[in-house]
Amino acid sequence: MALPQEACPYCGEAELIEILEVWPPRDFQLDTCCHGVHEAAVQFLSENPRAAAQWLRAKGLEGLTGRRVRRVIDDGSGQLVLDWRLTIAPVSFSTAKNFVAPHHRHCPAPAGWRFWTGIFNGDELIGCVMVGRPVARALDPARVVEVNRLCVRTDIAPELPWNACSQLYGWAAREARKRGFQRIITYTLESESGVSLKAAGWTIEHKVKGRSWDTPSRRLPNASPGLNKNRWTPES
Ligand SMILES: [Zn+2]
Repeated sequence: MALPQEACPYCGEAELIEILEVWPPRDFQLDTCCHGVHEAAVQFLSENPRAAAQWLRAKGLEGLTGRRVRRVIDDGSGQLVLDWRLTIAPVSFSTAKNFVAPHHRHCPAPAGWRFWTGIFNGDELIGCVMVGRPVARALDPARVVEVNRLCVRTDIAPELPWNACSQLYGWAAREARKRGFQRIITYTLESESGVSLKAAGWTIEHKVKGRSWDTPSRRLPNASPGLNKNRWTPES
């Protein structure tokens, strides 16, 4: 037996607000009894990004799409779109390399990649991490790996890659452990906050003076000359 439906305060008919359709990568349309309730629903969704995700879940969005929604966001043009929960999934070596290349034009790619992955928002690849041999010669490449490249897209709504860097650092640390490496490290410039490393539970273990990275006799290919760096590793 169907529950008695409430009357819509706008049109007086039985109130209707349902998900009509979802189009990849992130568009959706509501089916409503009238324009008034549609406007109210859109306003609610735009003002409460997290509650909106919960509401869409309750309306069966995840059953329709097989994906988990994180928030509802403005795509930058006033259109409400779905921000999916991020998922880490393998990508080919060339996909990862092409993804990070534009961000690192000034650095030649270090040799000796060990492992890499991509992170997706729905179907869209929004970030990649690549882990390889440590660039500093003093570190034993049989025991230590280095996050040499980590990039997320900056040409999309800023909400979409939210938390992607931390998740990639977290994945890299777990993967290094799984593969039997004793340590994983990465470098940031001293001027960078390292906020996503901190969020992933990494701490600064060593401060590297810029000069030692760029002496004429020992040029390290991956270093930005003359800048102080912080070396990070996960808290054990
Ligand atoms: Zn109505």
